[in-house]
Amino acid sequence: MENCLFCKIASGDIPSSKVYEDENVFAFRDIAPQAPVHILVIPKTHFASAGEVTPENSALVAKCFEAIAKIAVQEKLDTGFRVISNCGPDAGQTVPHIHFHILAGKKLGEKMV
Ligand code: AMP
Ligand code: ZN
Repeated sequence: MENCLFCKIASGDIPSSKVYEDENVFAFRDIAPQAPVHILVIPKTHFASAGEVTPENSALVAKCFEAIAKIAVQEKLDTGFRVISNCGPDAGQTVPHIHFHILAGKKLGEKMV
C-alpha cells in the first residue's frame, strides 16, 4: 500500500533493523524500544489492524505467530515474552498496518507493558 510506513519497511524502501524475514512475514526492532527486546512482527501484505482480520487474511496472522515462535528461539527469549497488538485510537495504534509487538528481556509487569 502506498504511503504505509510498514509496507515500505517490509519492501526495504525504508531501512530497518531486520530480525527475521520469510515469504509472508517481516520482523524488525522497534525504533523506540519499551523493553530490552522490542521487536515488531508484520505481514508483508497490508491490512490495518486486528479489527480487519477476515477469512481471506487470517492465515497471515497465523504466519506472524509462526514467525514469533521462531524469533523467540532465535533471540533466546527462554524466560518468556509478551505479544501485543494495538488496534485503533483508544489502544494507541500509531501505524495502521497490523503489527505484533514482542516485548522481552526483563520481568514484565503482571498486568500490561
Ligand atoms: P503502535 O503504537 O502499536 O501502532 O506501534 C507502532 C510502533 O512502531 C511504535 O512502537 C514505534 O516506536 C514503532 N516505529 C515507528 N516508526 C518506526 C520505524 N521507522 N522503525 C521501527 N519502528 C518504528
Ligand atoms: Zn502497510
